[in-house]
Amino acid sequence: MTTVPAYAAPAPKAPLERTTVPRRPVGEHDVLIEIKYAGICHSDIHQVNEDWGRAPFPMVPGHEIAGIVAEVGPGVTRYAVGDRVGVGCFVDSCRECANCLAGLEQHCAKGMSATYPVGSDGQPAYGGYSSHIVVDENYALRIPEGIGLAEAAPLLCAGITLYSPLKHWQAGPGKKVAIVGLGGLGHMGVKIAHALGAEVTVLSQSLRKKEDSLRLGATDHRATSDPATFAELAGSFDLVVSTVSAVLPFDDYLGLLKTDGTLVNVGAPADPISLNLFSLIGGRRSLAGSMIGGIAETQEMLDFCAEHGLGAEIEVIPVEQVNEAFARVLAGDVRYRFVIDTTTF
Ligand code: NAP
Ligand code: ZN
Repeated sequence: MTTVPAYAAPAPKAPLERTTVPRRPVGEHDVLIEIKYAGICHSDIHQVNEDWGRAPFPMVPGHEIAGIVAEVGPGVTRYAVGDRVGVGCFVDSCRECANCLAGLEQHCAKGMSATYPVGSDGQPAYGGYSSHIVVDENYALRIPEGIGLAEAAPLLCAGITLYSPLKHWQAGPGKKVAIVGLGGLGHMGVKIAHALGAEVTVLSQSLRKKEDSLRLGATDHRATSDPATFAELAGSFDLVVSTVSAVLPFDDYLGLLKTDGTLVNVGAPADPISLNLFSLIGGRRSLAGSMIGGIAETQEMLDFCAEHGLGAEIEVIPVEQVNEAFARVLAGDVRYRFVIDTTTF
């Protein structure tokens, strides 16, 4: 066991502060990663605030990890010291259930082993706001040379969370896709859907981010604060993906779908939603959810992003600014992902 520097919330809703956390010894199939960058996902804030239920503290958030392999276990075959690697939202799974065998480790029947706050063994687990992490080589991803490590970090959660549903619901040429919420997830959704060949519209609370939407690859950007948006775009989209961290009036958004269209929700607000089922019955519409992606699909996403020159739009911060960054994410003041320079520990 070694001890490494980290930033942790000592209690629910408390500001993060400098601390140290244990990392397990490098096992047979483990890699020790020197973390260079860690993205700040809105989920990190939900977790620290216990929006999703009780969690152990102190909590070290961070599941958008990019770094360099610093040491490998004797049985490691996939990576060597010096390789550029990433770690996302989970670091292990049972490897034998139907979902794991199908490459859907995020839906492991025994529960994926989360990067933080709790592993599948029920013990606290510490995330990427830290200098080093030890993970099994099978749950590390290769970051292609074409993407900077800082721009790649957010792909490990925001990138895959949008890539997976866009592929599953076949965003591509001839398809009209709306991305709701232009934040960390949403801006990657625009880039990826555009690269897949779909026609993309951004549905944002205001017109403030319109220029960015068009630059990122959207052909249209509409304000959801304007009721005319919902009237004018009714029945327009094959696919709507909501990345919003708060509860939305889903009936209004379902009305934007064509017949047989699907609204995929990836935002994870704490509160339940209400829905008029006639919003689904009319137009044979579907409401679905999606959670990150499996290991093979995450690697496919990283390779796709490298091939298409896609990385996150980031603001790199020293670790001391993490609390300020949390506040700015909550205030909607981020374009479009904060990334902690973890070499500032
Ligand atoms: P973010 O950067 O804060 O972006 C969320 C965006 O939603 C904001 O930029 C804003 O976009 C819009 N928004 C915020 N509050 C709103 C409100 N009250 N009404 C309407 N729109 C609002 O957050 P993120 O990191 O992208 O994460 C978004 C959500 O996805 C979080 O709940 C997070 O926990 C969840 N998440 C889910 C998965 C998964 O696997 N399903 C993975 C990662 C994250 P505009 O300014 O354009 O309106
Ligand atoms: Zn995330």
